[in-house]
Amino acid sequence: MKIISNPNATPTKHIPLRTCVACRQIKAKRELIRLVHAADGKIEVDDSGKKAGRGAYLCREWECWQTGLKENRLEHTLRGNITREDREKLVNYARDLIKGVN
Ligand SMILES: [Zn+2]
Repeated sequence: MKIISNPNATPTKHIPLRTCVACRQIKAKRELIRLVHAADGKIEVDDSGKKAGRGAYLCREWECWQTGLKENRLEHTLRGNITREDREKLVNYARDLIKGVN
């Protein structure tokens, strides 16, 4: 199959941008991890990016997760309390995630 490359056929597509709550860098939404304050009060990772509830975004950087959790940036942005249990889940998620990247 012949791939026709026409630069005019690919206009700059709108890329949704979001801000990391820790480092405040603006990145493409898909490069960030969404966390959601779900209806049941839990604060969890939203893998689908489509869960209902107030959302916050973090980079795939350990530092950002630490800052987000330690300085209560997530709680502030999500307007909720992260329980010890949820916090542990988030930390574990971040560890796995960042291990996977490197
Ligand atoms: Zn960040």
